[in-house]
Amino acid sequence: MKIKSATFVVSNSEVAKCPKTKLPEYAFIGRSNVGKSSLINMLTNRKSLAKTSGRPGKTQLINHFLINENWHLVDLPGYGYAKVSKKDKKTFQRFITNYFEKREQMISAFVLVDCRHEPQKIDLEFMEYLGEREIPFSIIFTKADKLRPQALERNIENYKKIMLDGIWWDFPNYFVSSSSSGEGQEEILSYIDDINSNLKLS
Ligand code: GDP
Repeated sequence: MKIKSATFVVSNSEVAKCPKTKLPEYAFIGRSNVGKSSLINMLTNRKSLAKTSGRPGKTQLINHFLINENWHLVDLPGYGYAKVSKKDKKTFQRFITNYFEKREQMISAFVLVDCRHEPQKIDLEFMEYLGEREIPFSIIFTKADKLRPQALERNIENYKKIMLDGIWWDFPNYFVSSSSSGEGQEEILSYIDDINSNLKLS
């Protein structure tokens, strides 16, 4: 998919206020600092479409971007910021679960994890939540340029092992990305393009 246009539409704190169009949308989510804004900018060939995090945990909003006039890329707030209070965490959880459970246009999510890190409880729990509700998602291993290929492979294998030892029968679809090198751009955009084409046919 070639990106012909990418524009910011709206930021919301409530799912009910998200765009009313029926355009298919794809949601990007992950821990603060995982590289989500950088990835969104890389995917769309824009320098600052998504704001790279000045203060992690501050932007607790659902951001819609219109891509090629025919689908929405949704930037969800980063989770797992240590300095957020328990009460805020609860509110945040409800906010995110509301989005996933109520937003009919949401076709598939991308859960971003930093390829350098061991699987984190918060990410695994979040993916379990998606799995239990049969919400389609892929994993994106970010910041691939920070590891040598062998170490990257090892970490992904470790991720697989831990998920398959847990509740998972299959390892989810996954991508590897680097916002510095552009790795993953083609694969992720083609994946979205293929789904969009099939949706049009159905
Ligand atoms: P967000 O909080 O998830 O939106 O993360 P950001 O996109 O703001 O990135 C957090 C930090 O990681 C910033 O310092 C980025 O420059 C850096 N970063 C993000 N993606 C990559 C990547 O693919 N490679 C490298 N080397 N650094 C990255």
